[in-house]
Amino acid sequence: MAPVLNPANEAVIADVPSMSAEQADAAIAAAERALPAWRAVAPGDRARLLRQFATVVREHREELAQLEVANAGHTIGNARWEADNVANVLDYYSGAPERLFGRQIPVPNGIDITFKEAIGVVGIIVPWNFPMPIAGWGFVPALAAGCTVVLKPAELTPLTAIRLAELGLEAGLPEGVFTVVTGKGSVVGQRFVDNPTVRKVVFTGSTSVGTQVMAGCAQQIKRVTLELGGKSANIIFADSDLEKAAATAPYGVFDNAGQDCCARSRILVQRSVFDKFMGLFESAVSGVVVGDPTADATEMGPLISQSQRDVVRSFVPADAPIAFQGKCPDGAGFWFPPTVLAPVAATDRAFQEEIFGPVVVVVPFEDEAEAIRLANDSEYGLSGSIWSRDIGRAIRVARAVESGNLSVNSNSSVRYWTPFGGFKQSGLGRELGPDALDSFTEVKNVFIDTSQ
Ligand code: NAP
Ligand code: MG
Repeated sequence: MAPVLNPANEAVIADVPSMSAEQADAAIAAAERALPAWRAVAPGDRARLLRQFATVVREHREELAQLEVANAGHTIGNARWEADNVANVLDYYSGAPERLFGRQIPVPNGIDITFKEAIGVVGIIVPWNFPMPIAGWGFVPALAAGCTVVLKPAELTPLTAIRLAELGLEAGLPEGVFTVVTGKGSVVGQRFVDNPTVRKVVFTGSTSVGTQVMAGCAQQIKRVTLELGGKSANIIFADSDLEKAAATAPYGVFDNAGQDCCARSRILVQRSVFDKFMGLFESAVSGVVVGDPTADATEMGPLISQSQRDVVRSFVPADAPIAFQGKCPDGAGFWFPPTVLAPVAATDRAFQEEIFGPVVVVVPFEDEAEAIRLANDSEYGLSGSIWSRDIGRAIRVARAVESGNLSVNSNSSVRYWTPFGGFKQSGLGRELGPDALDSFTEVKNVFIDTSQ
C-alpha cells in the first residue's frame, strides 16, 4: 500500500495498493479476455453505454471534484470543470461508434472497402497534474473505438481514476473493459510498455520518461501517443489590447499552480510597451487569490508534492532576478507564491526548462521576427498565445510558431472538440477532437473480386 496525501495540508487521506508487475499482467489479461465481446457490442449499444457513463459521472460531479481538491490540491472551481470535462468527452465520443466510417475506393475488377478496426488492449499512463481530464482523453476515445483499457494513474493522484472505473461499472460497462491499476510507473506502467498484449500506450508526463516509453514500445512496434512537456510563449504585441493581455496572463501560467503542460511560462512583450505591460501585470499577479483550494474564490492552490516544490525552488535561488512575487500561505502544504522573473536571457535555465510551477519569465522583443525566433527557441512546442489587433499579423505568427495549439487573443488551449498535441519534444500524436479515434484504430483494407 502507498499513502496518498492532501498537498494543501500534508494529511494522509487514503492508502492505495501498490500493485506488482504480476497484478498488472493479470489486469492486462482480463482486458484481453473482455476485448472480443466489447468489440462486438453493436455501435448503438456502445454509444448508449458511453452516454450512460457520462450521466453517471455528472451525477457524481461534486464527489469527484471534492476528491480531486483533496488529492491534487486543485481549486474547487477547476475540479468541477475537470469532472465536467470527463462527462463532456464521454458525450462527445458517444457519437463515434455509430460514425466510425471506412471508405469505398474505386478499383478495377472489384470493390475495395476500408474498416477502422479497434487496435486492441490500450494502456494509458496518467500524470498527477490533471488526473481526470488526461485519463478521460485517453480512455474515452479508446472505448468508443472498441478497445479495452488498462489505466495507471500517477501514484500521487490515484483517487479519481479509481472512482471513475467504479462509475464505469455502475453505468454498465462489462468487467475488464476499463480497469484501473495503481502502483509505480516503473512497475505497473512499465508492464504496459513491455507486455505484448498491450497494443498501444498513451503516455502523458515528462519528456524523459516519455522518451523511455517510446524506446520500450519500439521493441514491439507498439503504437504510442505521447503528451509531454511544454514551455509555451505568450506573445504580446504593442498593438494588442494590453490591459486584457496583462489581466489574463497570470491565469495563463499560474492556473493549477503552473503545473500545466500548456502553461504560458514565457511571456514575450514588444519592447515599446514592456514597462507599461509590467505595471499592469504586477497588479494582476498581486490579485491572484492563492490559498485554501476548497474555497470558491481561490484561484491557485499548492504544488503537488515536496519534491515538486524543491524542483520549482531550484529555479528561484537567492540571487534570482525576481521582478515581483505574489503571496501564498505558510505552514503545512506544498505552497509556492506566483513568481515573475525578469530580466532573463534566452539562454537561462528558467527560459529553457519546463518549471511546472508558478514561475514565469518575461522577455522583451523588438519586432515580429524576433518574437517568432524567441518563441521557437525551445525544444518544446505544445501551446502558446498571440495578442494583437492586427489579424494578419496574428495569423502569420500563429503559422510561424512551431507548436500544436495556439490561441489568438486568448490563453485557452483545450477544447474537447479540437485536436490537442505537441510539436517537437512536446509529444507525438493528437488527442481529443475528430483526430483521436485514428490513434485507437488500424485501417484494414479489404478487396472483393467481382470479376466473372
Ligand atoms: P513522470 O515521471 O513522467 O510521470 C508520469 C506518469 O508516468 C506517472 O503515472 C508515472 O508513474 C509514470 N511513469 C514513471 N516512470 C515510468 C516508467 N518507467 N514506465 C512507465 N510509466 C512510468 O512525471 P513526474 O515525475 O510525475 O513529473 C516530472 C516532471 O514531468 C514535471 O515536473 C513536469 O515538468 C513534467 N510533467 C509533465 C506533464 C504533462 O502534462 N506534460 C505531466 C506531469 C509531469 P508514478 O506514479 O510512479 O510517478
Ligand atoms: Mg517521475
